[in-house]
Amino acid sequence: MKLTSKHYTEADFNNCTPSCSMQDMNQSTINMIDRMVDFLLQNKQRKPRITCAYRTPEWDRARGRTGTGAHTKGMAVDLSCSTSRERFWLDRAINHVNCRRFGFNFQSNFVHVDNDTSLDQDVLFPY
Ligand SMILES: [Zn+2]
Repeated sequence: MKLTSKHYTEADFNNCTPSCSMQDMNQSTINMIDRMVDFLLQNKQRKPRITCAYRTPEWDRARGRTGTGAHTKGMAVDLSCSTSRERFWLDRAINHVNCRRFGFNFQSNFVHVDNDTSLDQDVLFPY
């Protein structure tokens, strides 16, 4: 079945690093970020850019990762956020959708969110 998003297009995924397709993702993960964007727009905040979504196991292993993380299952995205206000509202949005795995990277200006229920739940990652 073709995956769809209310707020993001195929180009948004093509422009990620590494480039990927919306079709590499899990629909439940797309639904989660769409609900986050609904919440942000309701609160007069902008839609964040997706900087990273699906990654192949090979891509991750080449960078010293396990190759089994949520990105390799299409169940994680990194969203751009560079200001304190953007981080504040993304944190509110994360809580609004009951995302149980996330972490802010203050050096690279993104927040990782995933909904991989096979991994440890109720965790806020340090970077
Ligand atoms: Zn991530």
